[in-house]
Amino acid sequence: MISVNLYKRLFNKFPALFAKVISALIPNFGKLKKYKNILAVPYSTYFQQQKIKSNPIRILIAPTSVCNYRCLFCEIHKDNLLYPNRSQNVVDLNVIKNYESFLSSSYKLSFSGGTEEPLLNKDFGKIVQYLKQKYGTKMMVNTNASMLNRDLADNLIKFGFDLILVSYHAGSKEKYKELMTGNIDIVDENLRYLKIQKKQNGKNKPVVNFNFALHKLNAAEYEFIFEKAKSLGASQVIINKYYGGRNRLQDKKVSFDYDIKEGNQVLDKIYVCAEKGGIQLRPPMPQYWTKEKVKWNPEYFDASIKCTLPWTNLNFKPVVGEKNCHYVSVCNRINLFKIAYDKIQLKTQKQLDVLWNHPALQYLRKTVNSKEMINPICKYCKNYDTATIRNTDAQQYAEIRDKAMRDFFAEFREQCSFEEIDGLEVLTENPDPDEKFQKKLKELEN
Ligand code: SF4
Ligand code: SF4
Repeated sequence: MISVNLYKRLFNKFPALFAKVISALIPNFGKLKKYKNILAVPYSTYFQQQKIKSNPIRILIAPTSVCNYRCLFCEIHKDNLLYPNRSQNVVDLNVIKNYESFLSSSYKLSFSGGTEEPLLNKDFGKIVQYLKQKYGTKMMVNTNASMLNRDLADNLIKFGFDLILVSYHAGSKEKYKELMTGNIDIVDENLRYLKIQKKQNGKNKPVVNFNFALHKLNAAEYEFIFEKAKSLGASQVIINKYYGGRNRLQDKKVSFDYDIKEGNQVLDKIYVCAEKGGIQLRPPMPQYWTKEKVKWNPEYFDASIKCTLPWTNLNFKPVVGEKNCHYVSVCNRINLFKIAYDKIQLKTQKQLDVLWNHPALQYLRKTVNSKEMINPICKYCKNYDTATIRNTDAQQYAEIRDKAMRDFFAEFREQCSFEEIDGLEVLTENPDPDEKFQKKLKELEN
């Protein structure tokens, strides 16, 4: 397999043309399908084609829509308020087979997305076995690891599952319980077993990484987290910054965006401590906070950003209020469609085309990187201040985001036409806008 850096170089005129020629020579069959597709993607992306022959290379699927935790920093509380009787939306092997047209040609499949715990899906091991044996798909999961039982761990080792990213936002028992609501001893025991079994079987995979999203309430936890990373065999600790939302911490001002000097000092301490302890961090250098307060200006966006996601990614996220449905998108900013996966057929390339080359996706490809006609959601996404607003003003952030989504769909409908398809609904706005959440809150208060 070519390295990521080498692959990125293909997204230029002549390398993209050359890769396309090589792609045409590769048979469209079995484990070769993905190589054929990977080499075709730079061409459609570089030339910003709207209707494309290449398939997505990165797929995200939420294999269920429920979680056994109630982390304080998670929007699960919003989802639970809006949908007290959440549907489970379990993805079984039949759903995976229905998604085979694009799973067979993708480079990487991530199991995550939304407020759900992927390992609650009882078919998880079977799905991994099927995709590894048939297509050699590279796979990762984002999990709290509380359900990583021995059978599953053995299965993941046996079939060479690639990466487990463990949400590990506190390292002490008390803080973990307080912030993540689970029992850290169970998680640690699961990871210990995995580490021992990998060693006994002489395997490096699955690689385990820890995800640590830093905020004021867990800033003192990094030493505990690093100790655990070392003893439980995590290869890297990913340092993220907490991002705000409708969660249980929203009124507590926990983000270091409110106090960037203090936040940057904590970051320095974290990186010094990691270096002393031989812990590998990602990113390798601290990404400091630079702005404290911002005034939103919709025109203050970075037009030089070239987003490639409408050509490379396809995401299937949970619809918590409806059975057997997924929201479909190419990124985390906007869901474009709601599909009923027990109705819509996506097994063949022709069936996939209905979704992957839908006018809404063609419109996104046409406008995402356009200087003059950039669409409202991409303009909002490329704004220099989106992240800061999100972390410091939940109300304003929600209003701007929901409006950008509504404007995107209004512009799309004004400029393009499309046919109604059974099982595929083109959205008109954020399906769970902040207004709906506020209304529900008020109803409960009264
Ligand atoms: S484990 Fe993940 S999905 Fe579940 S509540 Fe915590 S952050 Fe949310
Ligand atoms: S909103 Fe637009 S620019 Fe942002 S990630 Fe999605 S497609 Fe790319």
